[in-house]
Amino acid sequence: MIPEYLLKKYDREVPRYTSYPTVPFWKEMPDKGNYIADFKTNFNQYNTAYGISLYIHLPFCESLCTYCGCNKVITANHRVEEKYLNAILNEWYQYRRLMPATPIIRQLHLGGGTPTFFSADNLRRLLNCIFDIADIHPEREFSIEGHPNNTTKAHLKMLHLFGFRRISFGVQDHDPEVQRIINRIQPYENVKKTTVWARESGFSSVNYDLIYGLPRQTEKSIEKTVLDTIALRPDRIAFYSYAHIPWKARSQRLYDENDLPSPEQKLKFYTLSRELFLASGYKDIGMDHFALPSDDLYKAYKDGRLQRNFMGYTAAHTRFLLGLGVSAISDTGTAYVQNDKKLSNYYGRLNDSELPVLKGYFLNQTDVSFRQYILDISCRGKTRLHPGHKDLLEKNVLPELKEMEADGLVIIQNKEIKVTETGRMFLRNICHAFDLKGKLYKNRDDKPKFSKSI
Ligand code: SF4
Repeated sequence: MIPEYLLKKYDREVPRYTSYPTVPFWKEMPDKGNYIADFKTNFNQYNTAYGISLYIHLPFCESLCTYCGCNKVITANHRVEEKYLNAILNEWYQYRRLMPATPIIRQLHLGGGTPTFFSADNLRRLLNCIFDIADIHPEREFSIEGHPNNTTKAHLKMLHLFGFRRISFGVQDHDPEVQRIINRIQPYENVKKTTVWARESGFSSVNYDLIYGLPRQTEKSIEKTVLDTIALRPDRIAFYSYAHIPWKARSQRLYDENDLPSPEQKLKFYTLSRELFLASGYKDIGMDHFALPSDDLYKAYKDGRLQRNFMGYTAAHTRFLLGLGVSAISDTGTAYVQNDKKLSNYYGRLNDSELPVLKGYFLNQTDVSFRQYILDISCRGKTRLHPGHKDLLEKNVLPELKEMEADGLVIIQNKEIKVTETGRMFLRNICHAFDLKGKLYKNRDDKPKFSKSI
């Protein structure tokens, strides 16, 4: 049981650290010439050694879930599919021309939006065109985000033929009243049916995304959602804290803030649900993720192979991620870039034969080292402090870590920082101790806003 005073003390606004530096610190319009040079160098270095990761953002959704903070486009018009897929291919062909060797795709993720908004035939055409000019790594890890309301057997069968073995369903909450207020009506039967279909089609890992802290959730309703979830035995569960960011996700203004549970209730939801997951055989991987011991993610965690990137935790180890699609993010290892978030701009740039990148960040050596500390903490629960960073660490990091040591979250032994069992609940906060960039803004009014850690 985690003491309540710790939960309260560390329930702070901190990033999820899928990148370091985090997106708010990236700059508008990075130098494209530098980016292209960086892209080529790192592609050459990593493609043969590890293979590459590909993320494809498919932004369309048929209706708006009011809690949503993702980059999406709401439409019921399926004629948009073809134009968008042609744009993705245009972008892919532009990047392919920058690659001096055939890319070896090890990790592929179709994310959204709602990837299953697209018909199985259209997704098949997209994948055929991608793989026509790429090789597939023998240890591929291909995954998709499926919506329980529109994932079909045809989608699953086609994706399985391409080697997809993982699917993540956005479930969020099973309670009809919560679903009504978040405008995501999704009968339990649909979740159950699509899960069964996925397993029958040969998918070996099914993930559910759940959210706690949504409007109208109660202790009773969240308990039922968790128990109903456990009954379907997903291999992984991502149990996210609802991020109330109405300054960014305007649709969150559509419900009354009085409908949101209090911070104390939210903490209860979390601890109650965590206990239920653990009692049912799930393991806490960290940063809101639970997995069955039979799942690859847990095995990777146990073997110290866990990785973290924009897709969250992953067992595949590549160092080069190419993101295609509106708002998609790429990570070459020493540079991050994000595509234009506006669909019309994304199309416009591609029509002008331009890469649609809007903002980004080139990492210096200090950034690379501190990113590694954050990755070590979030994936392996420990890190070793480098003597070359003595001054930076003593001034910016160790005071916070020492306070955390006094609270029982970490153990500092010589140069090694180890996260304790209690500290696993607060990985985001421990990572934050190493966030030099974030600290620069600590007392400034233009400080970027993040969701709370719990
Ligand atoms: S939560 Fe998912 S399905 Fe709902 S609007 Fe956002 S991206 Fe679309």
